[in-house]
Amino acid sequence: MKPEKSYLKPAILKQAIAVAMASDAPKKMGAILLKRNKIIAAATNEHSKTHTVQYFAAQNAAKVWGDPNLAKKTFPHCEVKCLIKAKEDADTIVVCRVGGHGGKELRYGRPCRICTTYLQNCSNVVHIHYSTEEGFFYEYWG
Ligand SMILES: [Zn+2]
Repeated sequence: MKPEKSYLKPAILKQAIAVAMASDAPKKMGAILLKRNKIIAAATNEHSKTHTVQYFAAQNAAKVWGDPNLAKKTFPHCEVKCLIKAKEDADTIVVCRVGGHGGKELRYGRPCRICTTYLQNCSNVVHIHYSTEEGFFYEYWG
């Protein structure tokens, strides 16, 4: 499916931007999970601590994509961290990356290969929203 403009309300997208801006990683990313339009979890990416779930997600992606470099990415990405934190099954994720001057400009934040594989195999999330320099886009992964 070709990406289209995100249909989410600006208030929700602003929350995703706020989470990304709160990241203390050099590459600032944040994700929020929604269940029937309600936010059930939020997380930033992590650059100082590894996590077992991210480790296995990375190992699996390295196998699936035939790229051993992926296996080294053991610092939790915001998508994986958000799914670890969620206590309910989400149907929607919003992934945001910010950068530029003042760290307020939207950057391309489509889930990477590790997160794509993890979302598709280990969650019920099918509605994917992500930031780009031209605003938020949407893809259906069902
Ligand atoms: Zn990722």
